[in-house]
Amino acid sequence: MDFTLEKPALGALAQGNTGTPGVWRFDSGVPGRHVLISALVHGNELCGAWALKGILESGLRPKRGRLTLAFCNLDAFDRFDAANHDASRFVEEDMNRQWSAERMADARSLERRRARALAPFVDEADWLLDLHSMHEPGLPLALTGLSPLNEAFAVALGAPETLVADAGHKDGVRMRDYGRFGDPAAIADQGVRSVLVECGFHGDPASRTVAQDQCVRLLALSGVADATDCEAALPGWRQADAPRQWLLEVTGGVVATGHDVQFTEPFQGLEVIGAAGTVIGHDAGVPITTPYDDCVLVMPSVRQARAGVTVVRFARRRPAVG
Ligand SMILES: [Zn+2]
Repeated sequence: MDFTLEKPALGALAQGNTGTPGVWRFDSGVPGRHVLISALVHGNELCGAWALKGILESGLRPKRGRLTLAFCNLDAFDRFDAANHDASRFVEEDMNRQWSAERMADARSLERRRARALAPFVDEADWLLDLHSMHEPGLPLALTGLSPLNEAFAVALGAPETLVADAGHKDGVRMRDYGRFGDPAAIADQGVRSVLVECGFHGDPASRTVAQDQCVRLLALSGVADATDCEAALPGWRQADAPRQWLLEVTGGVVATGHDVQFTEPFQGLEVIGAAGTVIGHDAGVPITTPYDDCVLVMPSVRQARAGVTVVRFARRRPAVG
């Protein structure tokens, strides 16, 4: 698929209004949830940047609680080139693996320093929508983590159709699992919720539509804005609810041992592989096989393959529960 989604011109929006570049915060002065919407954790994932730009330019401001909008990896985004978009995923290392006190305390990379600068905003958020997009064409996915309360949260949001309960990555902690967002007690007792939405292929304009839809769903569900305010300020952003929602329970993933990984077919994701033991690819000549019958492939991609990178996840499927 061609990369047709344009890079948004952020201009002065990249400055933010908090003293931390790229971070905007608006406080209604009225009690309510603190909602954080983050974009550009990966610099080549433009859909979320378009959505935040749209919110900022619309003049929509919170009616209750607080709203924080964060353009996260602006240094990577500044390097974006559609002809070589993978190169601007990050500058030094993947920002979405640095969300632990240990990594942030070790300021060895631009991304760790940036995560440390953003962490106070993540710490104080009650609800997080982290907007991402995908290396390959595919249907949108909401990554909910393992909490049933986050599954119910994604059902209450009403889209997308496919939810993924996954434990994150072996190579580091994601923003959506960081701090209270990864703490079952905080999720249960403090109403903390987080979801990472993969809105579709990086270069597909449909990914922007998904990101915009997710934003207005979150704003209305949180009470930070009324649905009518969202429709007035951001007309056409709200899309139809998913006709039904599935939860994929991720049971594990395949971590590459190096660059030499291929799949047997051009998998797009969400394929259901009938028989356990089916060979779906090879890593340095060693077969990659499915672990059980009716195994769903989640986000297969070998384009970033190198030692330590997850190239496909395996999942079982069931109806999502609200
Ligand atoms: Zn991403």
